[in-house]
Amino acid sequence: LASRAYRNSPTVVKVGDLEIGGDTIQVMAGPCAVESRDQLLKSAMLVREAGATMLRGGAFKPRTSPYSFQGLEEKGLELLAEARELTGLRIVTEVMDASTIELVAKYADILQIGTRNMQNFFLLREVARSGKPVLLKRGSSSTIEEWLLAAEYILAEGNHNVILCERGVRTFESYTRNTLDLTAVPVVKYLSHLPVIVDPSHAIGKWRFVEPMARAAIAAGADGLLIEVHPNPAEALCDGPQSLTPENFQALMQNIGAIAEVT
Ligand code: PEP
Ligand code: MN
Repeated sequence: LASRAYRNSPTVVKVGDLEIGGDTIQVMAGPCAVESRDQLLKSAMLVREAGATMLRGGAFKPRTSPYSFQGLEEKGLELLAEARELTGLRIVTEVMDASTIELVAKYADILQIGTRNMQNFFLLREVARSGKPVLLKRGSSSTIEEWLLAAEYILAEGNHNVILCERGVRTFESYTRNTLDLTAVPVVKYLSHLPVIVDPSHAIGKWRFVEPMARAAIAAGADGLLIEVHPNPAEALCDGPQSLTPENFQALMQNIGAIAEVT
């Protein structure tokens, strides 16, 4: 179902009046984690002003250490919904396990499956049944074929609104957090009709290199971007080193606009 042999015309995922996989580039941006009302509303205002159409932030966070900030959970979801009311931005947020799908789906416009859960097939099936569009991040050690087969689990449940997200893979290189596999963009576009967006923030892990790779992603044909932005990255509870300042995010939005039409 994910392949071009099944369907040759590109899938356009519609979220209200937004189209992902259509003629324009969609940018989802926001802080790694929802931390407070003030932090989230500031983030929402600044990403909207810069031209993003979706606010992305985590209320349930899959942290490597159990002692790191784990997210505000339902309180975080309520704040995301408040930010949507205030700004009109669509909400993208991660769902980590089957027991919270109903809760997260009540607040979110798009459900994110994180890299660690890409092959959690039970979760994929259950998320598909929520009927919400799914943002499927590539597993950090997954091949393109494994990634497309994970998408297949969602499609096979009758949910055709799948957006793929390249977020870097593990390699021997340690200067960056992961290695952004931009090859995946044209390869997935050749193999599949599904839209593909790129997350340079988690791929690289260092804010300085996010904008050049965002530009490269758009030039490679990506349908959109996922960018981490924080009103004050130095104080972020999660992923501060890769988060753009408001000024740097604005510059990114202007500079990708020179490559392709952004809405
Ligand atoms: C995230 O998007 O906040 C995240 C944790 O990313 P990944 O699943 O790609 O590591
Ligand atoms: Mn993050």
